[in-house]
Amino acid sequence: MTEHVRVAVIGGGIVGCSVLFALAERGWTDTLLLERRELTSGSTWHAAGNTTFFGHYVSITRLYVESVAAYLRAEDESGQAISFHAAGSLRLATTPAELDAYRSLEPMYQAMGVPYHVIGPTEIEAVHPLLNTAGLFGAAHTPTDGHVDSSGATHALAQAARKRGAKIKRQCPVETIAPHKEGWRLGTPEGEVIAEHIVLANSFWAREMAEQIGLNLPLYPLQHHELITDAIPELAALDFEVPTVRDPWAPSNTRQEGHGFLCGVYEAKPEFWATDGIPPDFAEELLPPDTQRLERHLLKVIERMPAFGRAGIKTVNNGPICYAPDGCPLLGPVVDHPGLWLATGFPVGIGTGGGSGAFLADWMVNGEEPYGLPIVHPARFPNDLTREACLAQIAETYRQGYGTPEPA
Ligand SMILES: Cc1cc2nc3c(=O)[nH]c(=O)nc-3n(C[C@H](O)[C@H](O)[C@H](O)COP(=O)(O)OP(=O)(O)OC[C@H]3O[C@@H](n4cnc5c(N)ncnc54)[C@H](O)[C@@H]3O)c2cc1C
Repeated sequence: MTEHVRVAVIGGGIVGCSVLFALAERGWTDTLLLERRELTSGSTWHAAGNTTFFGHYVSITRLYVESVAAYLRAEDESGQAISFHAAGSLRLATTPAELDAYRSLEPMYQAMGVPYHVIGPTEIEAVHPLLNTAGLFGAAHTPTDGHVDSSGATHALAQAARKRGAKIKRQCPVETIAPHKEGWRLGTPEGEVIAEHIVLANSFWAREMAEQIGLNLPLYPLQHHELITDAIPELAALDFEVPTVRDPWAPSNTRQEGHGFLCGVYEAKPEFWATDGIPPDFAEELLPPDTQRLERHLLKVIERMPAFGRAGIKTVNNGPICYAPDGCPLLGPVVDHPGLWLATGFPVGIGTGGGSGAFLADWMVNGEEPYGLPIVHPARFPNDLTREACLAQIAETYRQGYGTPEPA
């Protein structure tokens, strides 16, 4: 059977569902999302759910800010809880240059109406009593960001989109894509889909899919670890949740999870996964963890938060995460391929997915980029970038963790 739709979205992670919801909000509901397995089956289900307003790149701050807003709207419309914890975040300044750069961003946040303060060590101790401030010059404090339940947010987006008329097919992998006189033709085990527009929101699977039409997307999966500790009495004793700590020196992010900590580590020597192609039998399982690799990083985290070192480790997750060489997503139209849109390559897809869905939907519906964001344009990478060049640059981007932002 052949189905005709205006837009087919490939991939039901947080990004695909964000695009579907944003299109529906703009009145485009002749849409169909196709998911290989179940919604969240890629990286989304095991993500820590951090949604900061001060991420890796200052120029995409609006994507972060608009993500939480989109998830909250979807929660409202669907009734599906997203469990947003507005515990705030601290981005630590471990050098005077970092502190100066953070200060220079105050006008930008003020213009966006986002609470943002540069604070000193005494104020840091007040909001995060478990943090050792020795050697810190201060921190940027974004008190209204936090974390969500990644699966809850994805299902809220999907349900809200459905309520507005969008369709979702699960257990329906897209096997082929090809240009068609009406747009694009997708081959699935259940038949063909003809769509005016298609959106590749299938993360690290997108590289092989795009090869079918001669595109060389610079996307590869990296292994990324997160650890969850047992309960920590000092945390349990507090009557508030401590903010997430992003530490450029460690480099890591550590937030409260129940009465323990959840810590994501950016390794100095990251390991890739499946660079020759995603195994066809890969479902949604985690990768084998390697805590030895993390040891020297965790020692730094413990120096910063001594209570972390006194707690037992409850869980270690190692999951694949999709990276482009510069760590920014590929978001927008593909040049010379009318109707083909990318929403892929998201290393912080929970933090930026909702805002990215809105950005792409505005572009699709209005035919022009809603605001200038060249750092996400797919065309920023040439089609002949070698695999070796990609891997080297991705490793460098990852190991830098939370680099000093360009002063505004
Ligand atoms: C341990 C860990 C912790 C993380 N913590 C955070 C965090 O705190 N905050 C944050 O912002 N990010 C975090 N991330 C990253 C985050 O998980 C990803 O950026 C995000 O989930 C990407 O979403 P996505 O929708 O692009 O991709 P995915 O969630 O991978 O979704 C892609 C979907 O496409 C489907 N698909 C693939 N091929 C096809 C096909 N041919 N046909 C149909 N469907 C297909 C897949 O089944 C999958 O469901 C973390 C990652 C890891 C590994």
